[in-house]
Amino acid sequence: MTGRTAGRPLAVVTGAAGFIGSWLSEALLAAGWHVRGVDSLTRAYDPAMKRANVAALAAHPAFSFVQADLACTASDELLGGADAVIHLAAEPRSSSSWGASFSRYIERNVLVTEQLLDSAAAMHVWRFIYASSASVYGSSSVPLSESAVPHPVNPYAASKLAGEHVAGVHASQGLPVVILRYFSVYGPRQRPDMAVHQFVAAALDRRPLTIAGSGAQVRDMTYVGDAVAATVAALQAPLAPGSVINVAGGHPLTMRQLAYEVAAIAGHASPEIIEEPARDGDVMHCVASTDLARSALGWTPVTALSEGLRRQVEWQAERRRELHRQEHATGSRPMRAQPRGPRLMIYSQDGLGLGHLRRASSIASAFLEREPSGWVLTTSDSPMGTLLHDVHNHDYLKLPSIVKSGPGDWHPLSFPLDFAHLRQLRTRLILEAANAFEPDVLLVDHMPHGAMGEMLPVLEALRGESAQIILGLRDILDAPEIVHQRWEQEGAFEALSRYYDGVLVYGSREVFDVCREYGWPQHLADLVRYCGFICTPQTPEDARRIRARRLGGADRGTMIAAMAGGGADAHELMSALLDALALIHADQPCVLEIVTGPFMPDHQRLDLKRRAESLPVRLRRMVSDPLSRVAAADLVVAMAGYNTTMEVLRLGTPALLVPRRGPSQEQRMRATRFAELGWVSQLDPDELTPRTLADAVLDALARREHRAPAIAPDLGGLQRAADHLQHAANLARHEAVFEVVGVPASHHPHDAAPEAGLSDALSAS
Ligand code: NAD
Repeated sequence: MTGRTAGRPLAVVTGAAGFIGSWLSEALLAAGWHVRGVDSLTRAYDPAMKRANVAALAAHPAFSFVQADLACTASDELLGGADAVIHLAAEPRSSSSWGASFSRYIERNVLVTEQLLDSAAAMHVWRFIYASSASVYGSSSVPLSESAVPHPVNPYAASKLAGEHVAGVHASQGLPVVILRYFSVYGPRQRPDMAVHQFVAAALDRRPLTIAGSGAQVRDMTYVGDAVAATVAALQAPLAPGSVINVAGGHPLTMRQLAYEVAAIAGHASPEIIEEPARDGDVMHCVASTDLARSALGWTPVTALSEGLRRQVEWQAERRRELHRQEHATGSRPMRAQPRGPRLMIYSQDGLGLGHLRRASSIASAFLEREPSGWVLTTSDSPMGTLLHDVHNHDYLKLPSIVKSGPGDWHPLSFPLDFAHLRQLRTRLILEAANAFEPDVLLVDHMPHGAMGEMLPVLEALRGESAQIILGLRDILDAPEIVHQRWEQEGAFEALSRYYDGVLVYGSREVFDVCREYGWPQHLADLVRYCGFICTPQTPEDARRIRARRLGGADRGTMIAAMAGGGADAHELMSALLDALALIHADQPCVLEIVTGPFMPDHQRLDLKRRAESLPVRLRRMVSDPLSRVAAADLVVAMAGYNTTMEVLRLGTPALLVPRRGPSQEQRMRATRFAELGWVSQLDPDELTPRTLADAVLDALARREHRAPAIAPDLGGLQRAADHLQHAANLARHEAVFEVVGVPASHHPHDAAPEAGLSDALSAS
C-alpha cells in the first residue's frame, strides 16, 4: 500500500472526523506528519458534523481520509505503512451505554481496539496510542493518579477499561503502547452530547441551563488544544510499553460553576439553572494528578479555562449564525447533506400467517414509491416472507419462526429450543440488523415490545439515535380485557411510553376507538393517528376471464369464492362449505372456488380436494392473484382476517364472514362490528353447520343488491401510512440537522462513491 510522502512519517488516526481526532490530525499535519484519517462517521451524533470536521483537513496534501468501519474492515490494510497509530475511534457517551446498547460499545471500543493492536504489532509501529478516559477511575478517590485502581461505574467506562487491558496485553508482548486518560475535553467542535456544548447552546438561546444531578459534581476541564499537545508529545516521548498517563487541564470546578461560567461568557446574565435527575453512573469527583504527564511528556496545559470556553462559545455562535444564514438563503432549514436515502426498518411478527407481513410489504412499497432512493429492511418470521419481497430496495431478514397458541403462550415452530432461548436468538438477530442498518424509522407491527418483549433491547439501542420509532397497529387486536391485561403484564404500555414517537392505527376511530377500547392513558392516546384501513396496492388483473372460465362461458350464474388467508385453521369452514354446497345449489345453482391458503395442513387439504372432486368446485392451495377471485365472485365466504376483509370491502364484493373461533377474539369482533355497519354478513362460528352456512350464503346472495350502509369504510390507509412514515424519516434526518453547519457530501473530495473499494479510497493518499 502506498500512503507516505517521502520524509514524512505516517500516522493513522482513527476517529479522525471526531472532536479530538480532527484537531489531532491538524496538529500532526502542522508538525510534519502524514496523516491517514479513518472514520466511519457513526451516528452517535450527526455525521454531517463529522464531515464538516474532515472538510477542514481535506485540503492538506499530506492528509487522506478513509471512510470505513473499523469493525468490519481489515486493519492490516488500514494501517499499512503506518509509523504510528493514534486510536481515538470509539462509541462515546456513558449515559447511553446501558442495556442493549452495550453490544455496540463492546464492538466499537473493545473488539476494534484488539484488532488494531493486533495489526499494529505485526507492523512494528513506533507507537500505538490508545485514547482512554478518566471515567475508568469511577469511584476511586481523588486526586486520581495513574496508580489508583480503576472502578468504572458505567458500561462505557468499563468498555474503555477493557480496551486498556487489551492494550496492556499487547504492551506486555512488546508493542510500544501508551494509554492516555483524557479528562473532560472541551473546545470548538465538541460533541453535542457533552455538557459544555449543551450549556453554550442553552446560553446562546437564553434558555435555562440544565444540569443532571445537583451540579456539585467536580470535573477537571481540559482544553482540546492541550489534550492534542499531550497526545503529540506522547508519540515521541521515551515511554515504556503500557505506560498510562492522565491528560487533564488542571481546571477542576463543579458543574454548577461551569454552567455559570459558560453563561457569563455567552452573555447570558443570571441564567436559570434546572436540575434534572442524576444520571446512573455519574461520578462525583473526577480530578487528576498530572505529575506524570508533566514529567514524562514534558507537557503542561496552557489554556486558561475562560479562554478555552470563550473559543468554544465563539465557535458555537458562529455555527448558529451560519445556520441562520442558510435558513435565510433557502427560506427553510437547510437539509443535511444526505449520502443515502431514508431507511425504514419493519418488525413484523407473523409466525404462521401472512397478514401482518402482507400489510408490511404494502406499506414498504408505498414508502419506496415516495422515496425511490430509500431502503426498507423487513424482519419477520413468516415462512412465506421471501415471496412478498420483489420490490427494488426492499429486502427481508427471516427470523426463526414462533407461533402463538394463546395469550402469552408462544413456542418455536421448527427449532427444538425452549421459547426463552429462541427469543434471545431472535433478539440478537434483530439487534444486529438494526445496528448495522441504522434505520431512520423503525416501524414495529402490532406489539410495541415485540413477541414477549423481544424488541425491548432493540428499542433501547435505537433510543439514543435519531431514529423515529412508530407502532403500526391493526385496529382490532383481541378482546379489550385480554389486550389490556397482556400489555400491562408484558410491559407493552411501558415500552410504548418509553420508546415510541407515534402510533399509526390502520383503521378508523368511528369503527373502533383503540384508546378507549383498550384503556390507553391520555399521554399514549396523544401519540395515536388513525390513517384508515390498509388495502394492498395491487389491482385485480384477471377477474373477467376467471369469472367466464368458472361459469363455463355462461353470461349468468353465481360464483362463490372461499378464502382464508394463510389457511392454518380454515379447514372447518371449508369443510362445512363443501357439505353445504348441495343445499345452496338446490336454491341457487353456483360454482365454488376454494383457496385453502398455504398453511392448511396437507391432510386437511387433501381431504377437501378428495371431497371436491365430484362437486362444481375448484380447489387451489394458493393463487397468484387472489384479488381477481374476489372481484370475479358474487359472494366471498371468508374468515374475518384483516386483509381479506379489506380487499372484499375495497372491491365491493358481498362477503359472508365466519370468523375464527379463537384463541383471539379479533376476528369475531371485526365481523360483528362490520356486520353492524352493514358492510358484511356474518355467521357465528359456534353456529357453523352445513345448514346454517347454506342459509347464510343464500341470505347474503339475496341481499347483495340491496346493500346501503350508512357510512362507507375509509380505505385510504396505505397512502396515509406511507405519508406518515416519509414524514417521520424526514424528521429523523432533519432532527440531526439542527446541530450542523453541514458541508454537503459532494464538497468533500474523499466522499468516495459507495462502490469505490478501500484501496481506491486509500490511494488518494
Ligand atoms: P467523537 O465521537 O467525536 O470521535 C470518535 C470518532 O470515532 C467519531 O467520529 C466516530 O465516527 C468514530 N468511530 C467510532 N467507531 C468507529 C468505527 N468502528 N470505525 C470507524 N470510526 C469510528 O469522540 P471524541 O470526544 O473526539 O473522543 C475521542 C476519543 O477520546 C474516544 O476514544 C473517547 O473515548 C476518548 N475520550 C474523550 C473525552 C472527551 O471529553 N471528549 C474524554 C475521555 C476520553
